[in-house]
Amino acid sequence: MTKHFRSVLAILLMCAGMLPWLSRAQEQIDARFTVHVVQRGENLFRIALQYNLFAEQVAAANGITDSNSIVVGQRLIIPLATDGMDQRLTHIVAAGETLASIAAAYSRSAADLIALNNLESGEAIYVGQELVIVAGSAEPEVTPIAIQPTATADGNAPVTATPSPSLAASQHSFARNGSMSATFVHTVASGDTLFEIGLRYDLTVEALVHTNNLRNPDALSVGQKLIIPGIQLPRLAQVLPAVVDSFTIDPLVLETGRSARIELLTNEPVRLAGQFLNQDLHVIARDNGKRHNVLVGVPMFTAKAVYPLQLQLRYRNGESESVSANLQVIGGGYGYQSITLNDNELLAPAIEEAEIALLVEQTSGFTPERSWSDSLSLPAAAAMNAVFGTLRSYNGSEYNRYHRGVDFAGPPGTSVLAAAEGRVILADRLHIRGNTTVIDHGWGVYTLYAHQQETLVQAGEIVSSGQVIGTIGSTGRSTGPHLHWEVWLNGVNVDPLQWVRQVFP
Ligand SMILES: [Zn+2]
Repeated sequence: MTKHFRSVLAILLMCAGMLPWLSRAQEQIDARFTVHVVQRGENLFRIALQYNLFAEQVAAANGITDSNSIVVGQRLIIPLATDGMDQRLTHIVAAGETLASIAAAYSRSAADLIALNNLESGEAIYVGQELVIVAGSAEPEVTPIAIQPTATADGNAPVTATPSPSLAASQHSFARNGSMSATFVHTVASGDTLFEIGLRYDLTVEALVHTNNLRNPDALSVGQKLIIPGIQLPRLAQVLPAVVDSFTIDPLVLETGRSARIELLTNEPVRLAGQFLNQDLHVIARDNGKRHNVLVGVPMFTAKAVYPLQLQLRYRNGESESVSANLQVIGGGYGYQSITLNDNELLAPAIEEAEIALLVEQTSGFTPERSWSDSLSLPAAAAMNAVFGTLRSYNGSEYNRYHRGVDFAGPPGTSVLAAAEGRVILADRLHIRGNTTVIDHGWGVYTLYAHQQETLVQAGEIVSSGQVIGTIGSTGRSTGPHLHWEVWLNGVNVDPLQWVRQVFP
């Protein structure tokens, strides 16, 4: 801290104590503030984030109307949990955090957080949950001033210091985990454009497109999660075994019918096993057992609830430790469709069930080598005319069936293309899907092509990405020529377009 800075602070502190006639707005600037000196490369958003505030709050506290007008060296008053702002200070739970560790990071008690968030005592928190963090009844301790990266005692990567006075006490548990960066995620709101989001975070549209691998930057959907690169979350309260460098769940909140990835990085080789949704997970181990990925497909009719993810780490010396996180599953936001058919058009459920059972069996195998490295490519040069997941009712039944793929309408004979390299494991005529091809891409990922006029490859053949494997037709239960394209992950039907937009893992 510079001498000059100290004196400015002293003056501000004195002013706050000595001017009882200040207006109400100014009275709030008492001991509950700190001062931040604007550094090169900072903007209001980044500064606010360091203090767990919104840019608007910092702007309001300083009478700033144009958020682009701040300059290097400018001193900004940073409100710290003033009354009225308490409810807006929240923390998004990350994997590896506990109520106790979050409470400690903000110098609160777990009981405070339980009360503030109307939690039942002992109630589990879950990844992605937004917890209200409040100052509590006690007067704040001395307000720390500058935010500086702090080198840790044992020489690990620096951690970001926060205004929390308790940080020093809890720093050991932060430091031993090495780099503690977390991914900052922006959830697209109605009316958001990439340009506006970029402005808000001081990023170019290109940076957002690149980081999020957006194929169509004009087609943002409300609720879509965008990774904001280059931003470190101000507070992370992970409590993880010393061997764990990072633990990531992406996205933080899981959706029915969609895929997610789990990543655990360790600083020594471990063997990882795990369970989620009552299934043993297929763990992909790389980098000599230091990088572990799991691809999870959430079945469409999974009840919306919070489920435990359990991971077991086994070390070379035979010892083991476990890591767990509670993951929330929400609905994928699919549409509904009511279909009326004549009795003789209605299919006996047994036929459909038998075909699904066959496909589950075919796509539940795990080939340890993968043969894709990019996102999946589209399987036909044809217009998409039906999306994945639409819930269907037949003749007034429950909405207990859904559209398991994406449809592409094209004239008969249009080429059907392999979405990625892989090995054909099925090329056969099925009752509902007609002439069907299934390709195994490794790591539990499969693509399926249905209603083809002709299949041009056979089981056992290796195909390359974009190779013509058949032609569009209308075989099986189909009302007109189209390609019905499915993606299966570990025996679970998932939204194919997520795999077109995003690179897994
Ligand atoms: Zn279809």
